[in-house]
Amino acid sequence: MIRVGMGYDVHQLVKGRDLWIGGIKLQHELGLLGHSDADVLIHAICDAILGAANMRDIGYHFPDTSAETEGMDSKIILKKTIELIATKGYRLGNIDATICAERPKMNPHIPAMQQCMAEVIGCDVDQISIKATTTEKLGFTGRQEGISAYAVALIEK
Ligand SMILES: [Zn+2]
Repeated sequence: MIRVGMGYDVHQLVKGRDLWIGGIKLQHELGLLGHSDADVLIHAICDAILGAANMRDIGYHFPDTSAETEGMDSKIILKKTIELIATKGYRLGNIDATICAERPKMNPHIPAMQQCMAEVIGCDVDQISIKATTTEKLGFTGRQEGISAYAVALIEK
C-alpha cells in the first residue's frame, strides 16, 4: 500500500535568531522565529509524512505550548515522525519539497540538507528531493519577511 501526504509551513524572519533549514544552520543576518528551532523545511516535511499516514500534524504531536518542544532541534521532530508512522507499519517512500526564500541562496546547501535528513530518517539521499525558489520579490517571502516551504511525501507498507 502506498499513500501520499502534503505539508506547508511558514516562519517569520527576525533578527537575533539562527537560520535552520533542512537540519543545517545557514549563515544569514536573520533567522526564523518559532517555539522550536523553526526549521520550516523539516516542519513541512513532517506534516506531509504525518498527513500521508492520517496522523494529524506536528502541532498535534509537538505542541508549541509545551516546555519540552521549546528550542527543540527539528531533527528530533523528524526522527519521532518517522517513528510515529512506523507504529502503523509505514516507512518513507520519497519526499519532494520546495523552499520559498528570497535570500540567502539555498541551492549551494541542498546536498547538505539531503544528507542530513537522510541520516536522521535512515534512508537513501535519493529518497529526498529538495528544490528552492524565490518568489520574484513578491509577497511576504519576496519581501524577506519570512520563509515558506511545501512538501509532499509518499509512504508505503
Ligand atoms: Zn514550523
